[in-house]
Amino acid sequence: MSIMFPNGYKCVVCGDEISVDRNGFCDKCIDVLPKIVGKVCNKCGLPLYSDADYCMACKTQLPSFTKAFAPYRYEGVVKNLIHKFKYDGAEYLGDCLGKLLYDYFVKLDLSVDVIIPVPLYLHREFERGFNQASTLCGWFAKNGFDVDNYMVVKTKNSKMQASLSLAERKENISGAFRVLTKNKLKNKVVLLVDDVYTSGSTFGELADVVLKAGASKVYCLSLARTCFD
Ligand SMILES: [Zn+2]
Ligand SMILES: [Zn+2]
Repeated sequence: MSIMFPNGYKCVVCGDEISVDRNGFCDKCIDVLPKIVGKVCNKCGLPLYSDADYCMACKTQLPSFTKAFAPYRYEGVVKNLIHKFKYDGAEYLGDCLGKLLYDYFVKLDLSVDVIIPVPLYLHREFERGFNQASTLCGWFAKNGFDVDNYMVVKTKNSKMQASLSLAERKENISGAFRVLTKNKLKNKVVLLVDDVYTSGSTFGELADVVLKAGASKVYCLSLARTCFD
């Protein structure tokens, strides 16, 4: 993947000049990104303000994935950068954001066999020109992880999840994914990667499919997650 900064090496938030090894952020801006800190749901990573182990949604119906992680809240600067990356064609941002995701993942100290970026329906990927989840996995691939972009396909052109209720999201995404190379997943620990965790229905559906194909554990990792229950 090429590292292309549009105006030389400048902080992607404030525009101050930085050295190339800063990966897009100056010290000041990286410190004020909306990090998720404190107690979170043991399953989905939602920040919790009580002593409960799980959030209400997970208590009601425990997702099939082992655990979901996200370093940032989907708000403020992080939300703006993800928007720019996905919808304004700023693919170069995928490299900076992917580095944040990779550094966070390393600290989790998880052992994973295969990484699957959440696939897009082919036509949507064609429109956008790239799959944001695959782009975010660039640093994982560079560091020797098995990032498999071809194992699972999205066969259903689901509606944009943003406008739907939780029940509608589940219905919308149901049956959307198909595993092409099942034998590769047998007894494997899988990491699913996406840009944003919202209701968890996309990760949930994909985790179901991957577990059915024989995976032993499925972790989910997104750069950001929405933080209201
Ligand atoms: Zn800055
Ligand atoms: Zn939860």
